Amino acid sequence: MPYIELPDWARSAKNRKIQLYQSAREVKQPILLIGGVHGDEPEGVWLAEFALEWLKRNTATVPWIVIPCMNPDGFINHTRVNGNGIDLNRNYPSKDWSPEFAKPRYNPGPHAGSEPEIRAVTQLIRTVNPRLIIHCHSWHPCIVCTGEPGLTAARALAESSGYELKPDIGYPTPGSLSQYGWHDHKIPVICIEEVEGCARENIWEHFASGISKIFTGV
Ligand SMILES: [Zn+2]
Repeated sequence: MPYIELPDWARSAKNRKIQLYQSAREVKQPILLIGGVHGDEPEGVWLAEFALEWLKRNTATVPWIVIPCMNPDGFINHTRVNGNGIDLNRNYPSKDWSPEFAKPRYNPGPHAGSEPEIRAVTQLIRTVNPRLIIHCHSWHPCIVCTGEPGLTAARALAESSGYELKPDIGYPTPGSLSQYGWHDHKIPVICIEEVEGCARENIWEHFASGISKIFTGV
């Protein structure tokens, strides 16, 4: 189906291109799907790429935006953090952002929203006001839904994958997308945790039915 490709939508800390795809030239209240937040979780990039391929071939009934790899510096270097050594899921300018961190891999940055990847995504969120944000990671498999309006979509993903649906990840995540999206802006946020180390060829079968349900409203 028709879509718009922005191959140089934004740049990373080390000036690498961040690609963005969207269902039309102008989109309002889309579902925003993000992969590659953490560069050492390639499963999230692969899942976003598979979802994008599905969206290119099928007719979605909702506007959509896909950022397959938000952290190209980390993806190339196989690091969680971006090119400045910052954990992008702790750098959102949420009300609870905190400069404190226990391990370097959770470095939240010198100040909230200090990283170019986060500035680009938060500006996008303010502009298009997504109805739902889904970001794709890998860890112990689960679906984390923050915000009751996201529950139908989260249940579809949990059913599709067989992974547990959780109301939170189980530990505090100040400066995360779920804090910024739901707690500050009332945009529901779903975090998909694919099995860490899952083979690329096995990922799509876990989420094909859930993704198609979410983007066709069926
Ligand atoms: Zn992650």
